[in-house]
Amino acid sequence: MNYLSKICRSIQPYMAGEQPQDKKYVKLNTNENPYPPCPGVEEFLKSYDADKLKLYPDPNNTALVAKIAKKHGLKPANVFVGNGSDEVLAMCFPTFFDKDGDGVAYSDVTYSFYKVWAKMFEIESVVIPLMDDFRFDASAFKQAKCQGMIICNPNAPTGLIVNRLDLMAIIEANPEKVIIIDEAYADFCNCSMANYVSKYPNLLIVRTFSKSYSLAGVRCGYAIGNEVLINGLKTIKDSINSYTVNRLTEGIAIKALENNKYFTAQVDKIIATRDLYADKLRELGFDVLPSNSNFLFATHNEIAASELYYQLKKLGVLVRHFNQSRIDNYLRITVGSDDEMEALIKALKKIIDDAKAN
Ligand code: PMP
Repeated sequence: MNYLSKICRSIQPYMAGEQPQDKKYVKLNTNENPYPPCPGVEEFLKSYDADKLKLYPDPNNTALVAKIAKKHGLKPANVFVGNGSDEVLAMCFPTFFDKDGDGVAYSDVTYSFYKVWAKMFEIESVVIPLMDDFRFDASAFKQAKCQGMIICNPNAPTGLIVNRLDLMAIIEANPEKVIIIDEAYADFCNCSMANYVSKYPNLLIVRTFSKSYSLAGVRCGYAIGNEVLINGLKTIKDSINSYTVNRLTEGIAIKALENNKYFTAQVDKIIATRDLYADKLRELGFDVLPSNSNFLFATHNEIAASELYYQLKKLGVLVRHFNQSRIDNYLRITVGSDDEMEALIKALKKIIDDAKAN
């Protein structure tokens, strides 16, 4: 007797970063923001009338959609919200790609959830390798035979960005394909293509409140794009779940959008810490890719990344190691507070000194 579908039996789910409960770790493994959300969020929660929770939320999240539209100078019809950008991205697959179509193109080293959704929705994957130095292969994407593509910019886990002119060339050369750009980390650099959604009807930008807005716990993400693309997403969403963004999440995300000063200050702090600690890692013998994100992608010139990961965990510092070809000798290190980064450096110094002594 087998109760499970073929997909359920065969799919290899995405592995989120570990959240061990055995002790308190310096947690630099899931690209969370080390700073609290803006003060308006706490005030909102403290004064929230729990009685409101007996009612379903607005299925269209009109108030939040209006705020996001305003932020980007767009109309509400250009905005789609979801329970985290993972949900928005997942819904893109049945919205834009067919089972018997030419497939979805993405890089070989990128956010590893894309391949899971492709499998889940039985859509062919057209995997395009990054270049030897992990740079994005724009000319291969431009010519790719596929129904559409997902480009993570800045890319995860490398932190590298795609040149804007290259993105424009890809979008313009493929007017019949939907080009999805996952901008989960775009607030940590100046690479967003959000201003181009009015120009290109085939461009969809997906963004999140989880990283730059310090709201990973509320689960809120969104897409902006042409009304036709947004309506497609709404059709799929309303065929799965009418109420993806709950009342609390909606209210909190609105508060976060209302405090741009706080937002910019935290993002600037993270960028300054990132650049400072990239140099400190280099001093310890790491080769660190130039990061445009809130994480560093680094490989050590003597000690294997798997060993560093394991030793760091023993010392109470969690970083992410991907057991995946091409990147298995790299660590992805979230940029934490300066104190957290100091703890990382201290632990690394100990590991490196111990290795030298042996
Ligand atoms: N895209 C990328 C590239 C990510 O790294 C993440 C976070 N794991 C997401 C999307 C999803 O973020 P969330 O669902 O928290 O919005």
